[in-house]
Amino acid sequence: MTAGAESSSRTASTAIYVHDIPAERPWSQVLKKGQTLRIIDSEGQQAVDALLYCLADPAERYSAQDTLRTQGSAYVELGTKLVSNKGRVMARITADSCGRHDTSAGCCSCESNAVRFGEATKYQHACRENFILELAKYGLGKRDIVANLNFFMNVPIDPDGNFTVVDGISAPGNYVDISMELDVIFVISNCPQVNNPCNGFDPTPIRVMIWDEAKL
Ligand SMILES: [Zn+2]
Repeated sequence: MTAGAESSSRTASTAIYVHDIPAERPWSQVLKKGQTLRIIDSEGQQAVDALLYCLADPAERYSAQDTLRTQGSAYVELGTKLVSNKGRVMARITADSCGRHDTSAGCCSCESNAVRFGEATKYQHACRENFILELAKYGLGKRDIVANLNFFMNVPIDPDGNFTVVDGISAPGNYVDISMELDVIFVISNCPQVNNPCNGFDPTPIRVMIWDEAKL
């Protein structure tokens, strides 16, 4: 268990925004430089897919490849800098009580569900559809969906380099804090997947909280 020292001043009474995202639903918010978003896995074992876009120019966006290359390791954890496709730090993980987040395994879609789990799953709701719904609010579309973050999703990489989605290790109430270093559009899909263990086969609500650090 790890948590950043700064997280101790972040309490419900100092938050400027608190919201419960229902199971299977998307959410987004413009977050300003200096603000911190906390994502709480309210009931445990819930994967939270996320994408970040620069507010000033959404063509600059989160890059999983640049993030992993910059830190030289495969997992997202306390201290990870979330890097854009232009090499700038968009945000930083400043607290983490879970300890394991993924950015390798991508998001679920109707198409990938059909390939992985059979045609009968093609009509199930999926993260890609959540992203499309939410991105439309900002004039963005399918082509703007890139390799994403998967908070609380457990994708261990074995010594042979193989990886697969396995049971999540996040307990009810585990949280991760993301502090913005640029103004960003932060987009979440509360993952609806029911065909693999990423959500414990039972998608559940999550909570988001925002702090405006200048007011602490
Ligand atoms: Zn998903």
